[in-house]
Amino acid sequence: MQIGKKCAVAIDYKLTIEDGIVVDASEKGDPLWYLHGAGNIIPGLEKQLEGLNPGDKKTVVVAPEEGYGVYDKSKVHGVPKAQFPQSSYKLGDSIVATAPDGTEVPARITAMDGKNITLDFNHELAGKTLTFDITVSEVRTATGDEMKHGHVHGPGGHHHH
Ligand SMILES: [Zn+2]
Repeated sequence: MQIGKKCAVAIDYKLTIEDGIVVDASEKGDPLWYLHGAGNIIPGLEKQLEGLNPGDKKTVVVAPEEGYGVYDKSKVHGVPKAQFPQSSYKLGDSIVATAPDGTEVPARITAMDGKNITLDFNHELAGKTLTFDITVSEVRTATGDEMKHGHVHGPGGHHHH
């Protein structure tokens, strides 16, 4: 069947960015399952999978706006070193910062000097054009429970309840 609303879909994929660096890929024989139309995957990818059939291959290019967002300079903050609980951080480390309202937000350390640590709260792939090499592995009708929950159950999906 064709990919459309109310479909549970399995895809094999490889994700590369501008310079051909592979940042993510599904394991052989272990495709990614998602519920089509439920926003499980990034919008730019979901849109371009519509109408494909099992066995179809497609290269999907997704602009930052429909991927992980544009790079936002206002999401980069210098924080005094004294505010960090320990001093063993290094460049490139991923940390989880606590916002004033108590929510936890992931960030990366992109610069350090004697006084300050620079935290970048942009998604690692913000500002990147994403190229997905997709092979559609399986398409089936989603169950009522899956529609209710907004995700796929069973092998390759969620294993709760
Ligand atoms: Zn569920």
